[in-house]
Amino acid sequence: MDRNILTFLGCDSEYEDAKIVVFGAPFDSTTSFRPGARFASRNMRNDSYGLETYSPYQDKDLCDRKIFDGGDIELPFGNPERSIADIERYCEKVFRDNKIPVMIGGEHLVSLGAVRAAISNFPQLKIIHFDAHTDLRDEYLGEKLSHACVMRRIWELIGDNRIFQFGIRSGCREEFEWSKGHVTTNRHNFNTLEKVCKKLKNDPVYLTIDLDVLDPSCFPGTGTPEAGGVSFIELINAITSVCSLNVIGCDINELAPDYDASGASTATACKVLRELLLALNC
Ligand code: MN
Ligand code: MN
Repeated sequence: MDRNILTFLGCDSEYEDAKIVVFGAPFDSTTSFRPGARFASRNMRNDSYGLETYSPYQDKDLCDRKIFDGGDIELPFGNPERSIADIERYCEKVFRDNKIPVMIGGEHLVSLGAVRAAISNFPQLKIIHFDAHTDLRDEYLGEKLSHACVMRRIWELIGDNRIFQFGIRSGCREEFEWSKGHVTTNRHNFNTLEKVCKKLKNDPVYLTIDLDVLDPSCFPGTGTPEAGGVSFIELINAITSVCSLNVIGCDINELAPDYDASGASTATACKVLRELLLALNC
């Protein structure tokens, strides 16, 4: 008998056989505006069955890939430091076993745990970051561990000129000023992505996708919707470009399903994840 347990669509390989490990990090304790991202992974698993495993965009099928869905990590709510450490430990094992971790957030702070593990395994690591927001604050309301500060914390780990942001259209003046010389902040769209991909062609890359990079007209189900975003098809094209590089780990975060009763935001997030899983080079 087979176990009939809910996984993300087409992600039913055993851990030992899998090249890609999907897991949820349902944490949203530092969300600054509207919480709810903790429900993303379970909703996505459920709603993913509204999709096909086959992608006409890439002419690939999830059924032909070896992907393990490890379920959600149990995280101690209200304790960001321990939650990040638990995520780091989980990713550490996945890297050690020579597999690619694909994390479903949660709020964006969860990326810090995955990047901590990535940097210790891949010292030359570069970060590609899709988001509406810079996430470069040094602190938010006195807190260093906030989703509004996640890229600043990651910069502290890896230093100057190793983070490349795209789709950015929100942040305080100080964040934009500070980013000069530290982080490459590409505003509004993906126009400069091809150039950056050429530059990073020999480097290990971690890709972090804050889904609020999408325009709220197609993706309202998020904690801090920000008008002026990219379209679904622009995001998919950008993901496939990045995945031509050596992507060693990635995440999608900040879906808060309950803010979109139509379910369209969750369906969009599922489709983004399907395309990401198919685009990964493995
Ligand atoms: Mn954001
Ligand atoms: Mn973010």
